[in-house]
Amino acid sequence: MPIRATKRGAERTRLDRDCDVLICGASFAGLAVARELSESGAEVLLIDRYEIGERQTSACGIPTLWLERLDLQGALQQTFGELVIHTPYTTVNYRLPWTFSTFDYRTLCALLADHGTFAFETAKVNGRTAHTVHTDRGDIRATHIVDALGWRRVLGAGENIQPPDALLSRGLEVHPHGSGRDMEIWIDRSYVPAGYGWSFPAGEELRIGVGSFDPRFHVREPTERLATALGSEKVRYQGNWIPHALRPSIEDGVYFVGDSAGHCLPLTAEGIRTALYFGLAAGRELRETLAGRKAVAAALESYGAFSSSHATPFRWMLRAQRLIPRVAPSLLARSLRAMESRRFLDWAFGHYLEIAHPRFVAAVPSSARV
Ligand SMILES: Cc1cc2nc3c(=O)[nH]c(=O)nc-3n(C[C@H](O)[C@H](O)[C@H](O)COP(=O)(O)OP(=O)(O)OC[C@H]3O[C@@H](n4cnc5c(N)ncnc54)[C@H](O)[C@@H]3O)c2cc1C
Repeated sequence: MPIRATKRGAERTRLDRDCDVLICGASFAGLAVARELSESGAEVLLIDRYEIGERQTSACGIPTLWLERLDLQGALQQTFGELVIHTPYTTVNYRLPWTFSTFDYRTLCALLADHGTFAFETAKVNGRTAHTVHTDRGDIRATHIVDALGWRRVLGAGENIQPPDALLSRGLEVHPHGSGRDMEIWIDRSYVPAGYGWSFPAGEELRIGVGSFDPRFHVREPTERLATALGSEKVRYQGNWIPHALRPSIEDGVYFVGDSAGHCLPLTAEGIRTALYFGLAAGRELRETLAGRKAVAAALESYGAFSSSHATPFRWMLRAQRLIPRVAPSLLARSLRAMESRRFLDWAFGHYLEIAHPRFVAAVPSSARV
């Protein structure tokens, strides 16, 4: 259970303190790290520019198993056993070997926060000098630092690459009231030359959006056009940059987790379960260090090696992301239809889930095994 110390207005006092672990960013990645440190006995401080769960950062779709394994079903809104893909030439209905669910962001963050034991402060992170993190409320010194700040990677060494030059996609969605039965995707160049549109129903709300793999392509107009085509209102916008390439997950003694390490999967832009997955991995390494079972450098190295060991599937997905927009739409339609067989879908989606499998929630760090 977090100890909240959020300050507002005149109460927003100076924050000048030390701690064992400073986790910057209180969304999926940061909260997953905190969860793993719940019984470490360490002084853990989590900071974010917003309150926990205040600003939704995605369409909130995730394999249901991840919610179950992390005991987060309380946030679940709607579950889908099929994926419907529309192209100008065909519509396919893929029966998934596992289900996908949408969830409520605020509820999920609150539930995940309840799994941790940490102090929380709202502060904007501006940068870092060695083991001191500079925020708009003052400096925080920490033995261990985690950057879970999303694509901006604020705590990296040197100048950060910014869009549109960075390897980032862009996504924007609207959240109109409404309901739907299907989780739908549009691969249609009239909306976006390289990318896709989506509609994810979540109880009484739809999350309708467009993502472009090309950061120079603006997605507001096509997002609004898709919403209009679906008879939905264009309200409650939510958008962001989305990484589509792995970046170093350790740098200068800092752990980078989730979007800050490019842990979002290329092609599908699924980055929630990977943020949770790598968050758990980083948290476990930190736990080993805090318990004196692993040297600081060895823990950082293990986490870095763990992240890098996923490079192959990330590379393949990036290749597919680059290839699909070049395939003729009629050929793409034929290929999608050919992939409708149960056997193929079990194989393909089975491998896809393996990249960050929910069984990892119960895994024990290698150095803690007896
Ligand atoms: C429109 C859209 C829809 C998406 N839909 C899905 C989806 O359905 N399923 C899926 O799996 N992925 C989806 N993604 C991708 C997913 O949102 C990200 O991969 C995921 O949120 C990464 O989690 P994270 O914890 O690393 O970063 P984030 O969720 O981005 O969290 C970063 C946190 O850091 C805080 N922060 C940032 N900068 C600062 C600062 N300077 N100081 C203090 N705090 C700061 C933010 O407030 C935030 O709380 C979507 C992305 C977009 C843009």
